[in-house]
Amino acid sequence: MRPCRSIPIPTLPTSATVGLMRYLSTRGQAPPISFLESVLGGLAPDGGLYVPETWPHLFPNETERHNAILGHYAYTAARVLLAFSGGDLEGLEQVDDADALCLQAYLNGAWPESVAPLRQIGVSDWLLELFRGPSLSFKDVAMQLLGPLYDLVLRQQKERLSILCATSGDTGGAAVEAFKNRETIDLFVLTPRGRVSSAQRRFMTTSGASNIHVLEVNGDFDICQALVKQLFSDTTFATRARLSGVNSINWGRIAAQSVYFARVAHTLGHLGPVHFVVPTGNFGDAYSGWVARQLGAPVGRILLATNANDVLVRALETGEYRRGPSRATLSPAMDIQLASNFERILFEALDRNADQLCNLQRDLSRDGACLLPSDALARLRTWFSATSVSDEETLLQLRIQAQEGNLVCPHTAVGLQARTRLKEPGFVVTLATAHPAKFPETVKQATGEHPPLPPRSRDLFERPERFEQVPAKAETIRAIVRERSRAWR
Ligand SMILES: *Cc1c(COP(=O)(O)O)cnc(C)c1O
Repeated sequence: MRPCRSIPIPTLPTSATVGLMRYLSTRGQAPPISFLESVLGGLAPDGGLYVPETWPHLFPNETERHNAILGHYAYTAARVLLAFSGGDLEGLEQVDDADALCLQAYLNGAWPESVAPLRQIGVSDWLLELFRGPSLSFKDVAMQLLGPLYDLVLRQQKERLSILCATSGDTGGAAVEAFKNRETIDLFVLTPRGRVSSAQRRFMTTSGASNIHVLEVNGDFDICQALVKQLFSDTTFATRARLSGVNSINWGRIAAQSVYFARVAHTLGHLGPVHFVVPTGNFGDAYSGWVARQLGAPVGRILLATNANDVLVRALETGEYRRGPSRATLSPAMDIQLASNFERILFEALDRNADQLCNLQRDLSRDGACLLPSDALARLRTWFSATSVSDEETLLQLRIQAQEGNLVCPHTAVGLQARTRLKEPGFVVTLATAHPAKFPETVKQATGEHPPLPPRSRDLFERPERFEQVPAKAETIRAIVRERSRAWR
């Protein structure tokens, strides 16, 4: 089943013994780089995405596996971080090891409850609640780790970075929470006007931190994402501004998200593989589930739950990956037509043939579509299913859940509705990706109930906001970064 030619690491990777893990570009034209370079950089210079050269095995023995299931979330995260970083964290001062770093990320005031509680909702059904972090979406889980990791590396190197990210709503809030008031970072967030909920916007705009710059773009998320890509591909500018990205293509985020898949699969997987239902937009989270499987976790089928923006559903059905028009839905964090992480799984489905991948990417940028080779399609279908859920079905599912005393967010409702179509026997875990209070308008519309914010966010709507509106022009954004970035040289 393993598609790639992986060279397994024979013994448990401890920070003392492993060599550096190298990361390759999916397009095969860029030199390999280290873990920290892959986390702090963005796209590869050839336009590709970085993937690890080999897949380490996470828990080679039962003791390790048990500790990871029963120990604190930080412990599991540290095992994953170690496996993917090789010896790359060793040179860092002020941090004993990956454990200390993960404790900084996950055992602090940002998580008043546990990081990823698993709640049983049916005989063989669970909900994995990933919205317990400071900005109330699953994106906090990865971002809270990137915050201290970036800070540590930059302090050591006496460097500053400008982080530029596009957000469909939740990445921005999570990034603001992770990077606010950090001396080493200026954060520039591009967010589509009118496409994010007011609670989502307020998580970005109310930090009061001078290193946070929220730019509301006159355009949809795909336009924001294209602008970010454009700025990164201007290498002179990107170098001078020390640009870095924390979008869902960032390898650090993927690695950090694979932690909860691995932990849950190992927790429930004693009877057989565990299936996951993943509300999907940019395909980062779902791909992280596949990564957990590569790490040896008993991950079964991954069901991609999408809204009307169904590019992945069509691709798996027809074999043609074709972008459609971006549609505004009740689950706005998934209003995405080109899923950037799809390139990573395509690379694997093509058995890591970078030349073939480049040809498909060329077709995609020339014609807005590419045809997946039949063996690649067959592989994708063994790993993933996909289904699209309409707004009416989302509202219906919100109501059904509310009747059972379970207020969920619209994205989670898309997942739970998709879940009803999954026929595979076995345990199923649906990812709850945001807190319902982040989408109060839609939840109220469906259920008549107003989901309350958790105590520490109660004053969200009273805090003063700061953001500015900008046209969808690379030149404008370039000028703003140039003027405000403390890293500019
Ligand atoms: C970002 C997001 C998603 C989609 O995750 P991807 O990794 O982009 O597929 C789903 N639900 C919520 C609430 C999100 O914020």
